[in-house]
Amino acid sequence: MIQQQIKDAIRDIPDFPKPGIVFKDITPILKDPSLCDSIVDAFVAGLKDTRVDAIAGVESRGFLFGLTLATRLGVPFIPVRKAGKLPHTVMQKVYELEYGTATIELHTDAFKPGDHILIHDDLLATGGTVTAASELIQDMGGKVAGFTFVVGLGFLNGLEKIRPISNNVMVLAS
Ligand code: 5GP
Repeated sequence: MIQQQIKDAIRDIPDFPKPGIVFKDITPILKDPSLCDSIVDAFVAGLKDTRVDAIAGVESRGFLFGLTLATRLGVPFIPVRKAGKLPHTVMQKVYELEYGTATIELHTDAFKPGDHILIHDDLLATGGTVTAASELIQDMGGKVAGFTFVVGLGFLNGLEKIRPISNNVMVLAS
């Protein structure tokens, strides 16, 4: 069962990156090629009835399975990056964090208006990051095709936040 395999692979790292936070370390998954394949297989199977014109992967752990998934689906991969990392002309979105703000960017030519963009990240927590990515995609004329995550973390609040954007949400392990 993929859910159990993912849970068994993930390591809890207390007090990372700050005291009081228990970080879910997904790097052991990456050492298991068969589990990596199963993860992508599960996403592909779950997306069989979804129009996906491109996959937007959120920096940086959203790049890991995002590119493989895009390649498997035969669609472009679009990196959603933190401010200042993309070299060409960008559009950006500023969003609220618990303390302060963060900014994400996309290249202005990342996709065509009307394209259906699936947003992928390794982990769903509050949903703030992928909500910002959705808003940026919508500002640029794209439609959000849905969301895929390897892990959901206390993810009910995150789900509540993103379901109004798209009800097509896949979380493999929680
Ligand atoms: P959210 O915006 O949903 O609150 O947070 C999700 C984002 O933060 C994702 O980009 C994810 O990579 C990162 N993140 C937050 N906590 C963790 C964690 O415990 N483990 C991992 N791997 N990523 C986390």
